[in-house]
Amino acid sequence: MQSIMSVVEKHSSEPQAKRRKIEPKINESPLSLSSSSSCGHWYALHGICIACKSTVDKRQGRAFDYIFQGLQLSHEAVALTKCLTTKSSCLNEKKLHLVLDLDHTLLHTKEVPRLSEAEKYLLEEAGSMKRDDLWKIKDSGDPIEFLTKLRPFVRDFLKEANEMFTMYVYTKGSRVYAKHILEVIDPKILYFGDRVITKDESPHMKTLGLVLAEERGVVIVDDTRKVWPYHKSNLVDISKYSYFRLKVQKSKPYSEEKTDESESNGGLANVLKLLKEVHRRFFRVEVEDELEAKDVRSLLQEIDFELKQESVD
Ligand SMILES: [Mg+2]
Ligand SMILES: [Zn+2]
Repeated sequence: MQSIMSVVEKHSSEPQAKRRKIEPKINESPLSLSSSSSCGHWYALHGICIACKSTVDKRQGRAFDYIFQGLQLSHEAVALTKCLTTKSSCLNEKKLHLVLDLDHTLLHTKEVPRLSEAEKYLLEEAGSMKRDDLWKIKDSGDPIEFLTKLRPFVRDFLKEANEMFTMYVYTKGSRVYAKHILEVIDPKILYFGDRVITKDESPHMKTLGLVLAEERGVVIVDDTRKVWPYHKSNLVDISKYSYFRLKVQKSKPYSEEKTDESESNGGLANVLKLLKEVHRRFFRVEVEDELEAKDVRSLLQEIDFELKQESVD
């Protein structure tokens, strides 16, 4: 929140100033200076431009309700913010951006009424001293209770990834659901801040259009490829994590077997190795200027190619 709003304030005046200079001086009354013709409407709140107070059409920008309810940025403002964010996080923090899915990537959630007989013992264990990886999720507005099982290694993953990336959650779940999950995986709000995009703001496919960083610096980790139709080259596949019994399942799930995915050699541990490698290669430069030409998409491709070669050899 603070970052985008400070960018908003710092840069909203610049393009207008430039534009005013080029524009012919038809009328210099204070009224015309704030008229819609001299304003790019970079930032609007509930359809009203912050700078000139005129009405702004939805098509003139993109909604960023996840940052601030009613906030809309013009396409120019989005592009500039993305560019500045990536630049400053590369130079100042040596960080890239990471977009994380929740379900089947970081955890598995199941509705309590759908638990199999052999899974019911988990209700006793959830939230007990014995288990800090199993949580009951209950929202006051929802009659159904859920059980959420964290994927092994998730806490270490988040801690380590946070050193290299500014992180987003991007889920097909609701905002209410995401809020409950974040209380479990990020209770001190160290990792995600307001960077949480849910189906409430993004009901159809997922898009990096909503992520305020340049695509060349964004890595996505998601178990479902098809929800990212336009950004497959940013996507790192992760094996689907299922703990509870699924609708159609022949073999016994982890829950019934009372086992789990490996901590050290499971999906998250393996993806973390890859993320470290991407980060290392991105920042492997002689001079800072070279960072401007770096692109995680080509690095992911390069690493993928090398891994395939290795498996052939
Ligand atoms: Mg998923
Ligand atoms: Zn305006």
